[in-house]
Amino acid sequence: MTDSHSVLPLDQRVILVTGASKGIGRAMVYGFAEAGATVIMLARNEEALNHIHDDLVAKKLPQPVIVQFDLEHAPEEAYFQLRDMINEEFGRLDGLLLNASLLGQRTPLSNYNWQTWNRVMNINVNSTFLLARTLLPVMEQSPADASILMTSSSVGRKSKAYWGAYAVSKFATEGLMQTMAEELENTSNVRVNSINPGGTRTDMRAEAYPAEDPATVKSPEDLVARYIYLMSAESKGINGQALDI
Ligand code: NDP
Repeated sequence: MTDSHSVLPLDQRVILVTGASKGIGRAMVYGFAEAGATVIMLARNEEALNHIHDDLVAKKLPQPVIVQFDLEHAPEEAYFQLRDMINEEFGRLDGLLLNASLLGQRTPLSNYNWQTWNRVMNINVNSTFLLARTLLPVMEQSPADASILMTSSSVGRKSKAYWGAYAVSKFATEGLMQTMAEELENTSNVRVNSINPGGTRTDMRAEAYPAEDPATVKSPEDLVARYIYLMSAESKGINGQALDI
């Protein structure tokens, strides 16, 4: 419980969360809002986003912004429009949680479907690049420090058989993070890191491990404190790191 004089860790911050409609992203929308941030929620499922929006407003938390956006099919122009909307509405962006992903097939590479490969790469890698590149100038307008957090996985650091495009996309995410972090080191107020949330009770986890008892896996809410830390001024100076929970 905070008293009226204590400043919340994400007070005044504007943070965009992809994959905000469910799972880890949804938990972060609540966590960030409770920590004082105005959250821009991006996903396809507008009904789910509307529900979260109304719930946050009912709880008297900062009113979030809904961005219905398809990371698989959106043209580059849509990313510029998103940048312009954030610029006009806020004039700044302090946090970017690149969390949306597609699991794709769990099958040998020799059997991997080309269309699925491209879907996974579009959502997990290409949209991550497009968002980070296009929104960087708005993040550099942040009056404080700004944080880009890309979402990795254990198979993005040491791959395993049958994880296909998903594992390769997470290696690419690590490469994107390292490249961008080194380019911004010492020249920008923006830091870039990746996080592996580890096994977490979501639809994606259930799809990857259908025989697992969900009760044995941590909940998305268990991750909130770590993600808030990585979005807050407290983690200023951490750049280019592949982080775990
Ligand atoms: P979920 O499958 O539960 O949620 C995925 C989110 O991504 C949804 O909000 C979905 O929204 C969004 N999304 C998917 N496709 C698109 C698209 N085309 N356009 C826009 N949004 C899209 O995943 P998790 O919460 O489990 O995973 C979150 C992140 O954590 C991912 O990057 C995942 O790889 C990573 N991770 C998860 C682990 C786990 O155990 N859960 C372990 C290791 C890493 P909508 O359908 O509304 O578009």
